[in-house]
Order: sequence, then C-alpha cells, then structure tokens
Amino acid sequence: MKDVVNLAGLTEPELISFAETLGEPAYRGRQIFAAMQHRRLRSFDQMTDLPKAFREKLSEQATVATLTLESRYLSEDGTRRYLMKTNDNLPVETVFIPEERRDTICFSSQSGCPLQCTFCLTAQLGLLRSLSSGEIVEQIIFALNDAYGPGVKVPRGVNLVGMGAGEPFLNFDPLMKALRIMANPEGLFIVPNRVTISTAGIVPRIQELATIADRPHLAISLAAPTDELRDELMPINKRWPLEELLAACKEFEKSLKPGERFTFEYVMLDGINDSDQHARQLANLLNRHGLSAKVNLIPHNPADPLPYLPSHPERVESFKALLESKGIHAFVRQPRGRDIYAACGQLAARREKLILPQLDENRNQDRKAAFPI
Ligand code: SAH
Repeated sequence: MKDVVNLAGLTEPELISFAETLGEPAYRGRQIFAAMQHRRLRSFDQMTDLPKAFREKLSEQATVATLTLESRYLSEDGTRRYLMKTNDNLPVETVFIPEERRDTICFSSQSGCPLQCTFCLTAQLGLLRSLSSGEIVEQIIFALNDAYGPGVKVPRGVNLVGMGAGEPFLNFDPLMKALRIMANPEGLFIVPNRVTISTAGIVPRIQELATIADRPHLAISLAAPTDELRDELMPINKRWPLEELLAACKEFEKSLKPGERFTFEYVMLDGINDSDQHARQLANLLNRHGLSAKVNLIPHNPADPLPYLPSHPERVESFKALLESKGIHAFVRQPRGRDIYAACGQLAARREKLILPQLDENRNQDRKAAFPI
C-alpha cells in the first residue's frame, strides 16, 4: 500500500493548503471538503465538479476513503453493526442505533483496546492500533450513507457516542481533531454538543477535556464503587483509583454548561457489583464527592467467554431505587443490538450472530426478561 494522505482526516484549512501545494486555488480545497463531508462522497470519481486531470492527480497522492466494509449485521431491534477493515487489515466497528426521536451512531476510537476490563469482549482483542482522525470521520460518513442513503440529507438530529471499541482518551488528539472536522457547518455539521465520549477514567485527559471550549459531553465508566472491586474489574483503576478519578470529575464539573450533566456508566453484573450494599457504597461515593451526576445502569451484555451474567431485572430496579433514595439520578439503559454483537462491550469483530445462552424454562423464568431477544 503506497503512502497516501487520507483527506477525510483533514480540516478545511488543511485541505485548502493541500490544494495549494498541488498548485490549485484555495476554493478547490473547500470543494473537496464539501464533497467528502457534506455530500459524503467516498471516491474522487464521484466528484465530477472537479476537473478530470485534477482528480487524477489527487488520486495519485490521496484518498478519501480507507475503510472497506467486510460485513453488515442487522438486529431484530433495527440496530446495525458495520464490521469494516482498515487498509492494513484491522477491524473497525461502528453501530447505528435508530431511536424514536433521534438516531445515534456509536463509533470506535481504536481497533481493539489495551484496557483489560474483565466484562468487555473488546478487551479480548488487545490493542491492535489507534485509529486516525480520518478513520474516525469515515465511520460516521459510512453509517450515515448506509442508514439514510448516500449523501441524502440527514432527516433528524444525529447523536454520536464514542463508546465503541477502544479507549478514546488514549487516542485523544486524533479524536478531538475528528470532532472538529465533523463540527464544521460546511461539512457534517455534527456539533460537540451532540457528542458524548466515554472513558474508563484516564484522569489527565479528563482534566485536559475540561479546558477545551468546544468540547463533547463526558461519560465515565465506573463498574464498581470500591477500589478493591474496581481494581479487579477494570485494571486501569490501579493507575487512577477512584479518589483521583472522582476528584477529576469534581474539577470537570466546573466546565459544565447550564443544564449539562455528566454521566457515570455502571455495568450490572449478576452477583458481582449489584447488591444493595454496592448501591449504598456507590451513592455514598458520589455524594461524598458532591457530584450531581446521573448514573446509567447497563445490564451486562453477555457473550462467550465472558464469565458474567446480567443482573436480574428486579435487582437492577432495586439498585436504581436505592440510588434514587439517596438523591442520585439513575436510569436503566435498554440494551440494543445484543443479537448481533453490537451492544455495549460486545464489539470484538465477531463474524456471526450471537447465540444466546440456553435458558432453563422452569427454574429461571425471570432470566427471560434479562435476555429480551
Ligand atoms: N473504553 C471506554 C469506551 C468504551 S464504552 C470506556 O470504558 O468508557 C463501553 C461502555 O460499555 C463502558 O461503559 C463499559 O463499561 C460498558 N461495557 C463494556 N462491556 C460491557 C458489557 N459486556 N455489557 C455491558 N456494558 C459493557
């Protein structure tokens, strides 16, 4: 593969300079930017408003699309998972989640993930590599084209969540650049206010994010209310334990805009982190730090060989009620795309549909509700 520039990862001013280095006027750079980011074209051939000779020159040195689709999975609930490949053959997964009032695209920041959270299937891949800004932007272009039709105007608000494979804050600069590119009104025009980035708790980057004026929303994956348990479930906790993490969150609070709250995610693992005592510990932890955040409770998405089951739905409800009785806003997140390996923590380049564990009809009726598909 020869070394070509991926134009999908350039800002508009960078594209203008690029056009100028090829001896072209500045407006050619703006034209290419709009072709990629507004019309969502994925080849120079389609950019028929550019002179043919220029398109030929461009294709010798540059590309506008590096990701190729390997397969596409459609869930019974309408969620779509795209398994793509980088030009060096690494998996990249993106999920499109249709919702009643708006749609959400969940993108990946890395191929694989270096963190070793024991409940997450992506961890089993290890880190393959971080994705470039272009590879991040391309995922969104691809998903929009697939969901609405190539270049078709997006019919309603689209939200982005950086909750796919990888730890976004270990790929901070390319990620922030991708968000700047996507915010451009001449392009995709998806502003940071529509974007939420989730981190396992890379404290220095939480601090850095707080200093960025036009920043996305933040979500923090907690999974446990004590260091002892969190060390076990999310080994990154040994590097940045809960006290440090929550102190950084408290500091981050100062950068919140009116009405903005940040979110904690709490994956609910049957018999591991879902007792009343865990709920009390969690409420006390957040209250002790004076954090008026909300907590999203995510029933574990099971997959072989992960050694956990999702908490019983009644357990989740009791856990939620206990948090609420202590003044913490809690919400239960409904899993989406579980049957196609598209739900939280299930992105691991699986090439098949999910075979759900056999349920014992007689003994464990309520388990059925935990596996709604
Ligand atoms: N590395 C980042 C981004 C991934 S987001 C982070 O950890 O925040 C993925 C979210 O899904 C996290 O909140 C994680 O805790 C959650 N998750 C991971 N595996 C899961 C699983 N098997 N079931 C439910 N949620 C899971």
